[in-house]
Amino acid sequence: MRPVPYARQAISDDDIAAVADALRSDWLTQGPAIPRFESALAKYCGAPHAVAVNSGTSALHIACLALGLGPGDRLWTSANTFVASANCARYCGADVDFVDIDPGTFNLNTAALADKLAHAEREGRLPKIVVPVHFGGQPCDMAEIARLAHRYGFAVIEDASHALGAEYGGAKIGSCDHSDVTVLSFHPVKIITTGEGGAALTRRADLAKRMQLLRSHGTTRDESQMEGPSDGPWYYQQITLGWNYRMTDIQAALGASQMYRIDEFVSRRRELAGRYDAAFAGSPIGVAARLDGAVSAWHLYVIQLEEARLGRSRKAVFEALRSSGIQVNVHYIPVHLQPYYQRLGFAPGDFPAAERYYERAISLPMYAGLSDSEQERVISAVKHALP
Ligand SMILES: *Cc1c(COP(=O)(O)O)cnc(C)c1O
Repeated sequence: MRPVPYARQAISDDDIAAVADALRSDWLTQGPAIPRFESALAKYCGAPHAVAVNSGTSALHIACLALGLGPGDRLWTSANTFVASANCARYCGADVDFVDIDPGTFNLNTAALADKLAHAEREGRLPKIVVPVHFGGQPCDMAEIARLAHRYGFAVIEDASHALGAEYGGAKIGSCDHSDVTVLSFHPVKIITTGEGGAALTRRADLAKRMQLLRSHGTTRDESQMEGPSDGPWYYQQITLGWNYRMTDIQAALGASQMYRIDEFVSRRRELAGRYDAAFAGSPIGVAARLDGAVSAWHLYVIQLEEARLGRSRKAVFEALRSSGIQVNVHYIPVHLQPYYQRLGFAPGDFPAAERYYERAISLPMYAGLSDSEQERVISAVKHALP
Protein backbone atom coordinates (compact mmCIF):
# COMPACT_ATOMS: atom_id res chain seq x y z
CA MET A 1 0.00 0.00 0.00
CA ARG A 2 1.03 3.55 -0.78
CA PRO A 3 2.57 5.30 2.26
CA VAL A 4 0.40 8.08 3.69
CA PRO A 5 2.44 11.31 4.03
CA TYR A 6 1.87 13.68 6.95
CA ALA A 7 1.14 16.55 4.56
CA ARG A 8 0.75 17.03 0.84
CA GLN A 9 -0.15 19.78 -1.63
CA ALA A 10 -3.42 19.55 -3.60
CA ILE A 11 -2.70 20.55 -7.22
CA SER A 12 -5.60 20.55 -9.70
CA ASP A 13 -5.66 20.69 -13.50
CA ASP A 14 -6.83 24.31 -13.14
CA ASP A 15 -3.71 25.08 -11.07
CA ILE A 16 -1.51 23.54 -13.75
CA ALA A 17 -3.32 25.52 -16.47
CA ALA A 18 -2.85 28.74 -14.47
CA VAL A 19 0.90 28.10 -14.20
CA ALA A 20 1.12 27.23 -17.91
CA ASP A 21 -0.68 30.49 -18.75
CA ALA A 22 1.84 32.42 -16.65
CA LEU A 23 4.70 30.70 -18.49
CA ARG A 24 3.22 31.70 -21.87
CA SER A 25 2.65 35.30 -20.74
CA ASP A 26 4.99 38.30 -21.04
CA TRP A 27 5.91 38.26 -17.36
CA LEU A 28 7.63 35.56 -15.36
CA THR A 29 8.14 37.83 -12.39
CA GLN A 30 6.52 41.03 -11.10
CA GLY A 31 3.69 40.85 -13.62
CA PRO A 32 -0.08 40.92 -13.17
CA ALA A 33 -0.34 37.68 -11.18
CA ILE A 34 1.31 39.23 -8.11
CA PRO A 35 -1.35 41.93 -7.50
CA ARG A 36 -4.05 39.39 -8.41
CA PHE A 37 -2.80 36.96 -5.75
CA GLU A 38 -2.25 39.77 -3.24
CA SER A 39 -5.80 41.05 -3.63
CA ALA A 40 -7.23 37.53 -3.34
CA LEU A 41 -5.36 37.11 -0.04
CA ALA A 42 -6.29 40.58 1.25
CA LYS A 43 -9.95 40.13 0.38
CA TYR A 44 -10.18 36.64 1.88
CA CYS A 45 -8.41 37.59 5.10
CA GLY A 46 -10.07 40.99 5.43
CA ALA A 47 -6.89 43.11 5.57
CA PRO A 48 -6.41 46.07 3.22
CA HIS A 49 -2.81 45.24 2.25
CA ALA A 50 -1.00 42.02 1.26
CA VAL A 51 2.66 41.88 0.21
CA ALA A 52 3.67 38.63 -1.51
CA VAL A 53 7.26 37.42 -1.14
CA ASN A 54 9.38 34.36 -1.90
CA SER A 55 8.89 32.64 1.50
CA GLY A 56 7.19 32.93 4.86
CA THR A 57 10.65 33.44 6.33
CA SER A 58 11.23 36.47 4.09
CA ALA A 59 7.83 37.85 5.13
CA LEU A 60 8.85 37.54 8.80
CA HIS A 61 12.15 39.28 8.05
CA ILE A 62 10.65 42.28 6.24
CA ALA A 63 7.87 42.57 8.83
CA CYS A 64 10.52 42.86 11.56
CA LEU A 65 12.50 45.42 9.53
CA ALA A 66 9.39 47.47 8.73
CA LEU A 67 8.62 47.60 12.46
CA GLY A 68 12.13 48.92 13.07
CA LEU A 69 13.68 45.89 14.78
CA GLY A 70 17.46 46.22 15.05
CA PRO A 71 20.52 45.58 17.20
CA GLY A 72 19.80 45.98 20.92
CA ASP A 73 16.09 45.19 20.44
CA ARG A 74 14.33 42.03 21.59
CA LEU A 75 11.80 39.77 19.87
CA TRP A 76 9.85 37.13 21.78
CA THR A 77 8.10 34.14 20.27
CA SER A 78 6.67 30.78 21.27
CA ALA A 79 9.10 28.03 22.24
CA ASN A 80 6.95 25.64 20.16
CA THR A 81 7.48 26.82 16.61
CA PHE A 82 9.59 26.45 13.50
CA VAL A 83 13.00 28.11 13.84
CA ALA A 84 12.04 30.82 11.29
CA SER A 85 9.76 32.57 13.84
CA ALA A 86 12.87 33.33 15.92
CA ASN A 87 15.54 33.59 13.21
CA CYS A 88 13.86 36.69 11.71
CA ALA A 89 15.06 38.66 14.76
CA ARG A 90 18.61 37.37 14.40
CA TYR A 91 18.66 38.55 10.74
CA CYS A 92 18.00 42.06 12.11
CA GLY A 93 20.75 41.77 14.73
CA ALA A 94 18.17 41.66 17.53
CA ASP A 95 18.00 39.27 20.49
CA VAL A 96 15.47 36.45 20.80
CA ASP A 97 13.67 35.15 23.84
CA PHE A 98 10.89 32.61 24.13
CA VAL A 99 7.59 32.27 25.95
CA ASP A 100 6.53 28.85 27.22
CA ILE A 101 3.36 27.22 25.92
CA ASP A 102 -0.03 26.37 27.32
CA PRO A 103 0.03 22.57 27.67
CA GLY A 104 -3.62 22.45 26.58
CA THR A 105 -3.59 24.44 23.33
CA PHE A 106 0.17 24.08 22.56
CA ASN A 107 0.14 27.84 21.81
CA LEU A 108 2.06 30.61 23.56
CA ASN A 109 0.81 30.83 27.16
CA THR A 110 -0.58 34.32 27.69
CA ALA A 111 -0.29 34.09 31.50
CA ALA A 112 3.41 33.24 31.10
CA LEU A 113 3.72 36.14 28.64
CA ALA A 114 2.10 38.55 31.14
CA ASP A 115 4.47 37.42 33.93
CA LYS A 116 7.52 37.67 31.71
CA LEU A 117 6.50 41.18 30.56
CA ALA A 118 6.02 42.41 34.13
CA HIS A 119 9.48 41.09 35.01
CA ALA A 120 11.06 42.54 31.83
CA GLU A 121 9.52 45.94 32.54
CA ARG A 122 11.16 46.02 35.97
CA GLU A 123 14.49 45.16 34.36
CA GLY A 124 14.05 47.57 31.42
CA ARG A 125 14.23 44.70 28.94
CA LEU A 126 10.83 44.76 27.26
CA PRO A 127 10.52 43.24 23.77
CA LYS A 128 9.96 45.45 20.74
CA ILE A 129 8.05 42.69 18.93
CA VAL A 130 6.14 39.59 20.06
CA VAL A 131 5.42 36.87 17.49
CA PRO A 132 2.50 34.65 18.51
CA VAL A 133 2.36 31.51 16.36
CA HIS A 134 -1.04 29.98 15.56
CA PHE A 135 0.31 26.48 16.08
CA GLY A 136 -1.23 23.80 13.92
CA GLY A 137 -3.69 26.41 12.64
CA GLN A 138 -5.36 27.15 15.99
CA PRO A 139 -5.46 30.88 16.80
CA CYS A 140 -3.72 32.23 19.89
CA ASP A 141 -5.62 34.31 22.43
CA MET A 142 -5.17 37.46 20.34
CA ALA A 143 -7.40 39.75 22.42
CA GLU A 144 -5.21 39.13 25.47
CA ILE A 145 -2.00 39.52 23.45
CA ALA A 146 -3.30 42.82 22.01
CA ARG A 147 -4.19 44.01 25.53
CA LEU A 148 -0.63 43.26 26.67
CA ALA A 149 0.79 44.93 23.53
CA HIS A 150 -1.11 48.09 24.42
CA ARG A 151 -0.03 47.95 28.08
CA TYR A 152 3.68 47.31 27.36
CA GLY A 153 4.09 48.99 23.96
CA PHE A 154 5.33 46.16 21.79
CA ALA A 155 4.34 45.39 18.18
CA VAL A 156 2.68 42.09 17.24
CA ILE A 157 3.50 39.95 14.19
CA GLU A 158 1.18 36.94 13.94
CA ASP A 159 3.00 33.94 12.48
CA ALA A 160 0.00 32.47 10.65
CA SER A 161 2.06 30.10 8.51
CA HIS A 162 -0.32 27.33 9.69
CA ALA A 163 -3.48 29.36 9.91
CA LEU A 164 -4.74 30.65 6.54
CA GLY A 165 -8.49 30.04 6.83
CA ALA A 166 -8.59 30.01 10.65
CA GLU A 167 -10.99 32.33 12.44
CA TYR A 168 -10.79 34.33 15.62
CA GLY A 169 -13.45 36.58 17.13
CA GLY A 170 -15.64 36.23 14.04
CA ALA A 171 -12.90 37.39 11.62
CA LYS A 172 -10.38 35.53 9.51
CA ILE A 173 -6.82 35.22 10.75
CA GLY A 174 -4.90 37.72 8.62
CA SER A 175 -7.42 40.51 9.23
CA CYS A 176 -4.82 41.98 11.64
CA ASP A 177 -7.60 43.04 14.02
CA HIS A 178 -5.21 42.40 16.93
CA SER A 179 -1.77 42.78 15.33
CA ASP A 180 0.43 44.99 13.18
CA VAL A 181 1.33 42.34 10.61
CA THR A 182 0.25 38.75 9.89
CA VAL A 183 2.64 36.44 8.04
CA LEU A 184 1.62 33.48 5.85
CA SER A 185 3.66 30.67 4.28
CA PHE A 186 2.85 28.83 1.06
CA HIS A 187 5.33 25.96 1.43
CA PRO A 188 3.76 22.77 -0.04
CA VAL A 189 2.79 21.37 3.39
CA LYS A 190 0.82 24.51 4.31
CA ILE A 191 -2.88 25.30 3.66
CA ILE A 192 -2.30 26.58 0.09
CA THR A 193 0.96 26.46 -1.84
CA THR A 194 3.03 28.42 -4.35
CA GLY A 195 5.96 25.94 -4.18
CA GLU A 196 7.93 28.32 -1.99
CA GLY A 197 6.29 31.59 -1.00
CA GLY A 198 4.87 33.78 1.69
CA ALA A 199 3.00 37.00 2.33
CA ALA A 200 2.66 39.74 4.91
CA LEU A 201 -0.78 41.21 5.59
CA THR A 202 -1.36 44.49 7.37
CA ARG A 203 -3.94 47.20 8.00
CA ARG A 204 -1.20 49.86 8.03
CA ALA A 205 -0.41 51.52 4.68
CA ASP A 206 2.98 52.73 5.99
CA LEU A 207 4.09 49.18 6.82
CA ALA A 208 2.81 47.83 3.49
CA LYS A 209 4.77 50.47 1.59
CA ARG A 210 7.89 49.76 3.63
CA MET A 211 7.63 46.01 3.08
CA GLN A 212 7.14 46.53 -0.69
CA LEU A 213 10.43 48.48 -0.72
CA LEU A 214 12.25 45.90 1.39
CA ARG A 215 11.24 42.95 -0.83
CA SER A 216 12.82 44.59 -3.89
CA HIS A 217 16.28 46.00 -3.06
CA GLY A 218 14.91 49.12 -1.34
CA THR A 219 14.23 50.63 -4.76
CA THR A 220 11.21 52.61 -5.89
CA ARG A 221 9.80 54.19 -9.05
CA ASP A 222 7.29 56.19 -7.00
CA GLU A 223 8.33 59.85 -7.20
CA SER A 224 6.57 60.69 -3.96
CA GLN A 225 9.03 58.41 -2.14
CA MET A 226 12.17 59.81 -3.87
CA GLU A 227 14.75 62.22 -2.53
CA GLY A 228 14.80 65.05 -5.06
CA PRO A 229 13.25 65.03 -8.52
CA SER A 230 13.12 62.09 -10.93
CA ASP A 231 15.60 62.12 -13.87
CA GLY A 232 12.96 60.74 -16.26
CA PRO A 233 10.70 57.79 -17.02
CA TRP A 234 13.58 55.25 -16.65
CA TYR A 235 14.48 56.48 -13.20
CA TYR A 236 14.37 54.57 -9.94
CA GLN A 237 15.97 55.27 -6.59
CA GLN A 238 17.32 53.03 -3.89
CA ILE A 239 16.14 54.74 -0.73
CA THR A 240 16.96 52.01 1.81
CA LEU A 241 18.78 48.67 1.94
CA GLY A 242 16.44 45.95 0.73
CA TRP A 243 16.59 42.36 -0.49
CA ASN A 244 15.44 40.37 -3.49
CA TYR A 245 12.51 38.62 -1.81
CA ARG A 246 10.15 38.84 -4.80
CA MET A 247 7.68 36.10 -5.60
CA THR A 248 7.58 35.10 -9.29
CA ASP A 249 4.46 35.48 -11.43
CA ILE A 250 4.57 31.71 -11.97
CA GLN A 251 4.21 31.19 -8.21
CA ALA A 252 1.57 33.91 -7.81
CA ALA A 253 -0.50 32.37 -10.64
CA LEU A 254 -0.47 29.08 -8.72
CA GLY A 255 -1.35 30.85 -5.47
CA ALA A 256 -4.24 32.81 -7.04
CA SER A 257 -5.57 29.58 -8.52
CA GLN A 258 -5.26 27.76 -5.16
CA MET A 259 -7.25 30.57 -3.49
CA TYR A 260 -10.35 29.51 -5.47
CA ARG A 261 -10.34 26.32 -3.37
CA ILE A 262 -9.34 27.70 0.03
CA ASP A 263 -12.76 27.12 1.60
CA GLU A 264 -12.84 23.57 0.27
CA PHE A 265 -9.32 22.89 1.65
CA VAL A 266 -10.12 24.24 5.11
CA SER A 267 -13.49 22.53 5.41
CA ARG A 268 -11.96 19.17 4.47
CA ARG A 269 -9.24 19.68 7.12
CA ARG A 270 -11.95 20.48 9.70
CA GLU A 271 -13.85 17.36 8.72
CA LEU A 272 -10.72 15.21 9.08
CA ALA A 273 -9.97 16.77 12.48
CA GLY A 274 -13.52 15.96 13.64
CA ARG A 275 -13.06 12.34 12.56
CA TYR A 276 -9.74 12.07 14.43
CA ASP A 277 -11.37 13.66 17.50
CA ALA A 278 -14.16 11.08 17.43
CA ALA A 279 -11.70 8.20 16.96
CA PHE A 280 -9.53 9.20 19.96
CA ALA A 281 -12.27 10.40 22.33
CA GLY A 282 -12.14 8.51 25.60
CA SER A 283 -8.69 7.01 24.79
CA PRO A 284 -5.45 7.86 26.62
CA ILE A 285 -4.35 9.87 23.55
CA GLY A 286 -4.24 13.62 24.23
CA VAL A 287 -5.31 16.19 21.63
CA ALA A 288 -5.25 20.01 21.54
CA ALA A 289 -7.72 21.88 23.74
CA ARG A 290 -9.79 24.33 21.69
CA LEU A 291 -9.87 28.04 22.42
CA ASP A 292 -13.39 29.52 22.72
CA GLY A 293 -14.24 31.90 19.90
CA ALA A 294 -11.62 30.46 17.57
CA VAL A 295 -11.74 27.95 14.71
CA SER A 296 -8.56 26.19 13.59
CA ALA A 297 -7.45 25.80 9.97
CA TRP A 298 -5.97 22.41 11.00
CA HIS A 299 -2.56 22.54 9.35
CA LEU A 300 -1.48 19.88 11.87
CA TYR A 301 -3.27 17.27 13.93
CA VAL A 302 -0.98 16.48 16.85
CA ILE A 303 -1.52 13.68 19.34
CA GLN A 304 0.13 13.57 22.76
CA LEU A 305 1.37 10.19 23.99
CA GLU A 306 2.31 10.03 27.63
CA GLU A 307 4.60 7.09 28.22
CA ALA A 308 3.64 6.76 31.90
CA ARG A 309 -0.02 6.32 30.90
CA LEU A 310 0.51 4.23 27.76
CA GLY A 311 3.42 2.00 28.77
CA ARG A 312 5.02 2.72 25.40
CA SER A 313 7.34 5.54 24.41
CA ARG A 314 6.52 8.17 21.81
CA LYS A 315 9.55 6.99 19.85
CA ALA A 316 8.34 3.38 19.78
CA VAL A 317 4.88 4.47 18.61
CA PHE A 318 6.46 6.76 15.99
CA GLU A 319 8.62 3.93 14.64
CA ALA A 320 5.70 1.50 14.58
CA LEU A 321 3.62 4.00 12.58
CA ARG A 322 6.45 4.71 10.15
CA SER A 323 6.96 1.00 9.55
CA SER A 324 3.27 0.55 8.80
CA GLY A 325 3.52 3.17 6.04
CA ILE A 326 2.17 6.15 7.98
CA GLN A 327 4.66 9.01 7.46
CA VAL A 328 4.08 10.71 10.80
CA ASN A 329 6.23 13.64 11.86
CA VAL A 330 7.00 15.70 14.98
CA HIS A 331 6.31 19.43 15.37
CA TYR A 332 8.26 21.05 16.96
CA ILE A 333 11.58 20.48 18.62
CA PRO A 334 11.54 23.48 21.02
CA VAL A 335 13.55 26.20 19.31
CA HIS A 336 15.65 26.98 22.41
CA LEU A 337 17.02 23.40 22.34
CA GLN A 338 18.55 23.87 18.87
CA PRO A 339 22.35 23.99 19.13
CA TYR A 340 22.41 27.48 17.59
CA TYR A 341 20.12 28.81 20.33
CA GLN A 342 21.88 26.86 23.08
CA ARG A 343 25.08 28.63 22.01
CA LEU A 344 23.19 31.89 22.61
CA GLY A 345 22.61 30.82 26.22
CA PHE A 346 19.40 28.79 26.28
CA ALA A 347 19.36 25.41 28.02
CA PRO A 348 17.13 22.39 28.57
CA GLY A 349 14.61 23.20 31.30
CA ASP A 350 14.14 26.84 30.24
CA PHE A 351 10.64 26.24 28.79
CA PRO A 352 9.42 23.05 30.46
CA ALA A 353 5.88 22.95 29.02
CA ALA A 354 7.22 23.11 25.44
CA GLU A 355 9.77 20.41 26.28
CA ARG A 356 7.16 18.13 27.85
CA TYR A 357 4.83 18.69 24.91
CA TYR A 358 7.64 17.85 22.43
CA GLU A 359 8.54 14.59 24.18
CA ARG A 360 4.97 13.37 23.68
CA ALA A 361 4.06 14.79 20.27
CA ILE A 362 3.33 13.04 16.99
CA SER A 363 1.78 14.83 13.98
CA LEU A 364 -0.66 12.57 12.15
CA PRO A 365 -1.36 12.86 8.41
CA MET A 366 -3.52 15.94 7.75
CA TYR A 367 -4.11 17.46 4.31
CA ALA A 368 -7.08 18.25 2.10
CA GLY A 369 -6.40 15.30 -0.22
CA LEU A 370 -6.36 12.70 2.58
CA SER A 371 -9.18 10.26 1.81
CA ASP A 372 -11.55 8.75 4.37
CA SER A 373 -10.05 5.29 3.79
CA GLU A 374 -6.48 6.56 4.18
CA GLN A 375 -7.48 8.29 7.40
CA GLU A 376 -9.03 5.03 8.64
CA ARG A 377 -5.70 3.31 7.94
CA VAL A 378 -3.98 5.98 10.05
CA ILE A 379 -6.45 5.60 12.93
CA SER A 380 -6.19 1.82 13.01
CA ALA A 381 -2.37 2.00 12.79
CA VAL A 382 -2.36 4.35 15.79
CA LYS A 383 -4.60 2.02 17.78
CA HIS A 384 -2.42 -0.97 16.85
CA ALA A 385 0.76 0.88 17.83
CA LEU A 386 -0.53 1.35 21.37
CA PRO A 387 -0.08 -1.49 23.87
C1 LIG B 1 6.56 27.12 7.43
C2 LIG B 1 6.76 28.03 8.57
C3 LIG B 1 7.51 29.22 8.49
C4 LIG B 1 8.39 29.55 7.33
O1 LIG B 1 7.80 29.54 6.13
P1 LIG B 1 8.66 29.28 4.79
O2 LIG B 1 7.67 29.69 3.75
O3 LIG B 1 9.02 27.83 4.76
O4 LIG B 1 9.84 30.16 4.82
C5 LIG B 1 7.54 30.07 9.56
N1 LIG B 1 6.89 29.78 10.70
C6 LIG B 1 6.19 28.64 10.84
C7 LIG B 1 5.48 28.39 12.13
C8 LIG B 1 6.12 27.72 9.80
O5 LIG B 1 5.45 26.59 9.96
